[in-house]
Amino acid sequence: MKLKIAVLAGDGIGPEVTAQAVRVLDAVADQHGHTFEFEEWPVGGVAIKQEGAPLPASTLDACLSSNAVLLGAVGAPEHDKLAAAARPEAGLLALRNALGAYANLRPVVSYEAISECSPLRPDIARDADILIVRELLGGLYFGQPRGLLSEAGTASAFNTMRYSVSEIERIAHVAFKAALARRQKVTSIDKANVLETSQLWRKVVTAVAKEYPSVTLEHLYIDACAMHLIMNPRRFDVMLTENLFGDILSDEAAVITGSLGMLASASIGGAVGLYEPVHGSAPDIAGRGLANPLGAIASAALLLRHSANLEQESKEVEAAIRAVLNAGYRTPDLDRGTGKLVLQTSEMGSRVVEAFSDIANERHAYHAV
Ligand code: NAD
Repeated sequence: MKLKIAVLAGDGIGPEVTAQAVRVLDAVADQHGHTFEFEEWPVGGVAIKQEGAPLPASTLDACLSSNAVLLGAVGAPEHDKLAAAARPEAGLLALRNALGAYANLRPVVSYEAISECSPLRPDIARDADILIVRELLGGLYFGQPRGLLSEAGTASAFNTMRYSVSEIERIAHVAFKAALARRQKVTSIDKANVLETSQLWRKVVTAVAKEYPSVTLEHLYIDACAMHLIMNPRRFDVMLTENLFGDILSDEAAVITGSLGMLASASIGGAVGLYEPVHGSAPDIAGRGLANPLGAIASAALLLRHSANLEQESKEVEAAIRAVLNAGYRTPDLDRGTGKLVLQTSEMGSRVVEAFSDIANERHAYHAV
């Protein structure tokens, strides 16, 4: 397999964690006989400095002509005073939009080895394994009309939550297909007792479910879902949500894992898939080797699965992440003073590469017998 991957490391800890994800992808290519070509392009604050815009045309063109985009993080305090459209974050939103990535997948996994990092009791968080499928290009964040008004000396503001049948159908299919490869359950989240968009959402999702008879569908109201997610996260397999509800629930779900640095994401459905850790540029720890690269490495595993259809390789990378945690290795965000081995960002990357190679070699040995 030959893959061209655009690497947009971005700002703060972005370059540190992305470098480790690229090392792991290199190891995957070596072990499995693939050719991965990496090209680095600026995005965010670094692009503003170099080229005067958070998403230069050359970066966007390179992304659109690649097989996948691996992104670190964007955002820097020195740009906080800029207008919203000129800030580093605007580059990321424009990129997601230009790629047509309407489906955001965010796996939330509770690792037994770091269960003490979650504020949830271990007996609640244990074995939670959720895939959040969030609609990314519709709903309140993009609906028109929107605006700020000033009438009769009083200010008001409004946004529009709008969904078409086709927008709901395409994201529902992503969720049901994902469930087929998992525990075959989809929980669709809405507010159908109040919102017309949710009533249409529920009707369309119910219709799409008929094409997937082996998958169990349940509907939950967003408010009840927020409670169940913390009370009993194991009850969820695939969660299907619209844009705003997904934004809120996926951050809530992050507490199950225990550190923002562990979470990966894939934004797919468009011309080219975009893979990035969930966290931001973490200026408070940037440049000091303190960042946890496991979310970025897990994003690389999603890239292998969704943009290259390399399921075996993807699973081996995920198994390597689990293996290093089981072996007691931690980055500082996962250190709870338990006497575990606390590593720098690049050392953690090295441990994952080694664990991956061990897993891949074991597979070779098994097949050779
Ligand atoms: P953040 O995610 O950067 O950091 C929040 C906290 O988590 C910080 O204490 C940070 O040190 C810690 N943290 C984050 N990632 C970590 C990792 N991999 N390892 C260890 N600790 C980690 O959020 P923030 O501080 O609110 O935002 C900082 C900048 O990032 C802002 O400019 C913001 O706009 C931007 N941001 C970008 C993205 C993105 O690129 N997708 C997402 C969120 C925020």
